[in-house]
Amino acid sequence: MNLRLYANKSNFGERHYIETRNKPIQIRLAVIDLDISDKYPTNFVCVLPRNFNSKTTNQNHFQSRFKEGSRELAIQLLEKALKKEKDPDIIMEIKERLKLLKSKPKEIGKCALCNKDFYPRRFGYSIQRTCNDCWNKSKP
Ligand SMILES: [Zn+2]
Repeated sequence: MNLRLYANKSNFGERHYIETRNKPIQIRLAVIDLDISDKYPTNFVCVLPRNFNSKTTNQNHFQSRFKEGSRELAIQLLEKALKKEKDPDIIMEIKERLKLLKSKPKEIGKCALCNKDFYPRRFGYSIQRTCNDCWNKSKP
């Protein structure tokens, strides 16, 4: 597999915007495999989804195909595409998606000492800053 992203930009124009209130420019990102072909859409694998579901049921094509690694793969593909892309609309779309993918769900925090992900507890107005392991180690 030699995966890349293929950006498909449709420009609907002002009329579309007035009629539908949707952005006149729509960008769809497709995953393609250059080992299959260098021609689109022969090399089409699946659409890169905007939203990733954490539940195993009701997953999109991309997730059911690439399983647990799908979020990482999406980030890799987007970063690779960003380096080559010249179209400002597509660059904006890629950056937006990277931001979405890299943002962690709110309840997960990073330990201030070991940088590990953990679920912080709240103590009134303050919030746990270090994971339980580091917390236990710091105790006398
Ligand atoms: Zn820690």
